[in-house]
Amino acid sequence: MSIRRPHPLRVILVPILLSAALLGTGCEESPTGRKQVALVPEAQMTALGEQGFAELLRTLPLNDDPRVRAYVGCVAEALVDALPEPHGRWSIAVFDDPTPNAFALPGGKIGLHTGMLRIARTPDQLAAVIAHEIAHVLADHSNERLTQELAVQGGLMLLDLFAEEPGSLKHEVLRGALGIGAEYGLLLPYSRTHEREADRIGRDLMAQAGFDPRASVALWRNMSAAGGGQPPTFLSTHPSHDNRMEELAEGMEQAVEIYRQARAAGRARACSPP
Ligand SMILES: [Zn+2]
Repeated sequence: MSIRRPHPLRVILVPILLSAALLGTGCEESPTGRKQVALVPEAQMTALGEQGFAELLRTLPLNDDPRVRAYVGCVAEALVDALPEPHGRWSIAVFDDPTPNAFALPGGKIGLHTGMLRIARTPDQLAAVIAHEIAHVLADHSNERLTQELAVQGGLMLLDLFAEEPGSLKHEVLRGALGIGAEYGLLLPYSRTHEREADRIGRDLMAQAGFDPRASVALWRNMSAAGGGQPPTFLSTHPSHDNRMEELAEGMEQAVEIYRQARAAGRARACSPP
């Protein structure tokens, strides 16, 4: 027999959402200066991210090829080192899964499926994928999605949104907001605004870490070619839009300049594919 207690998030969120709705507060700015409403406290987002990640570690097999792990780790570490301080702790896990997928969760947990290496074929392209995922976390996109989802679901849903049984609908909403709900059939695609923002932040981050930002355009080209038949899981959560490549190209000159300076300063790392 189990005793149901209100989840701490429920206790915190209900008053926050109510007061924010009444006062119209809760507005913040994303790293690009966009106004956003992200009301879930950061500590709670981190806890959700860590919980989601621990679950993935239990359900998905980890890759056991040391060369693959060293390669992916090398790229991820270079990107994390280029983040502005304080950036907290980040870690990456490589999952042995042929579906091309990648994600990053609040709390600094990055996941990459080995299938993504068929699409991100060079260190620069892999950096583009990981930097894009890190950017979603930096810009608090999961928090915004969860906030929106909570607002849409309304008070009734709030009452037992945070039931803790894995596999319950409420649980799926949380996973969906984090972008890892695929296996449960519930996915919350990032909006066009979020994708555009993650593209921009990610492109500049990879340049700062000494990866060629032009590879981001090549990556999305590979991605849409791979999506010809069955759309990869990654594309369901990170929908492409018609002018994504044009938008990435805007500001590319500046990003290439940052990249050149990073290389000249010796910040580029040689990460060799296996
Ligand atoms: Zn995305």
